[in-house]
Amino acid sequence: MVPERGHVTTRTAIQARLDALRDEIERRNPAQPEFHQAVREVLDTLAPVLAARPEYADPGLLERLVEPERQIIFRVPWQDDHGRVHVNRGFRVEFNSALGPYKGGLRFHPSVDLGIIKFLGFEQIFKNALTGLGIGGGKGGSDFDPHGRSDAEVMRFCQSFMTELHRHLGEHTDVPAGDIGVGGREIGYLFGQYRRITNRWEAGVLTGKGTGWGGSAVRPEATGYGNVLFAAAMLRERGEDLEGQTVVVSGSGNVAIYTMEKLHALGANPLTCSDSSGYVVDDKGVDVELLKQVKEVERGRVSDYAERRGASATFVPGGRVWEVPADVALPSATQNELGEQDAATLVRNGVKVVSEGANMPATPEAVRLLRQAGVSFGPGKAANAGGVAVSALEMAQNHSRTTWSRQKVEEELARIMGDIHRTCHETAERYGVPGDYVTGANIAGFERVADAMIAQGVI
Ligand code: GLU
Repeated sequence: MVPERGHVTTRTAIQARLDALRDEIERRNPAQPEFHQAVREVLDTLAPVLAARPEYADPGLLERLVEPERQIIFRVPWQDDHGRVHVNRGFRVEFNSALGPYKGGLRFHPSVDLGIIKFLGFEQIFKNALTGLGIGGGKGGSDFDPHGRSDAEVMRFCQSFMTELHRHLGEHTDVPAGDIGVGGREIGYLFGQYRRITNRWEAGVLTGKGTGWGGSAVRPEATGYGNVLFAAAMLRERGEDLEGQTVVVSGSGNVAIYTMEKLHALGANPLTCSDSSGYVVDDKGVDVELLKQVKEVERGRVSDYAERRGASATFVPGGRVWEVPADVALPSATQNELGEQDAATLVRNGVKVVSEGANMPATPEAVRLLRQAGVSFGPGKAANAGGVAVSALEMAQNHSRTTWSRQKVEEELARIMGDIHRTCHETAERYGVPGDYVTGANIAGFERVADAMIAQGVI
């Protein structure tokens, strides 16, 4: 057990307790390195708030926070187009519901395991708290690989996945959405199967739906748009704006595409996109409509984009996108895609702002190096919260059976991202670490969840 479970007051005692808790988490959750990393990153910033607010040092609070309320693992059998049976593993981690129903995406990717889903679910608790919209934290997914699968195969997989998952969901219980490998197509198949099994038109049970049947305007764009707004707010703190800035963007999925769309709209120039095979640098700036066509319609690769784009674009097989010099970097692909060496390269090339569109794309070593070099760093749980925030707005529309205009949702998104930026900034100042958005986001999110957990008793 964790030693020292009584009230602790001194900074050394608090640190000792946090260290012991971290060791305990690593021992009790073996082979989950991403989960350890996500927890460590939060615990490392909490000492000042535990010292200032003794009620948070209550024994049991942190121990409850790092243990999911419920973890569901299930078999997902499905048949491919040749009649062969495949068996995947499905997950849903319902991490914390102190602030509202569990909320968070589903990821379909071969790398998915319990540790990945727990890291994402843990991050989601704080991210969702920062939106201020009354949503708890959860995450799910499967090690299913949708690449190269036909629509019919994806449909059969989604139907099998939902055949088990439906019993754990509900508009007031747990509300999934998309993440890597889960977009509008998958949400459609999942919703259809949920509706068939339950015989309920329960629009608020999933978000990211099509706009013709309960989806919200701007939901597909929201994560990328929101991250650009967050990066712009960080630049404003430095007395600059986005206009004319060059930007290196990684990834080529939903987040990356709408990041680039918003960058163009604000007069910045996104130079790159990437996938697991390499990256493209486009001297004229990435043509978002062409990238959408290649990725979303044809489900192709960034090398196909480069081929179609002509002379301005070069595909660099196996290269690291961070070697392209730019003013701003927006990692929008996946966890741990930006390491210490990459951070050093970005700093050498004069980067001013790095903001996480993906979840935990920068390693702890990279974050440290960027911060030491005076780069403004926006952590994903604040910077990419726009996606889940618009999901919560989709739930609000579903509950009230109304549809908001695109303009209204965009205004709300801008307001929410502004609030999150201000909250992180002010919290960092309040705790004596001005400009440290990591500490600001962790403490501000933690305070909201911890207050609700304390008020609701030991459950
Ligand atoms: N997967 C997204 C995230 O990481 C969105 C989740 C949601 O909309 O529920 O926040």
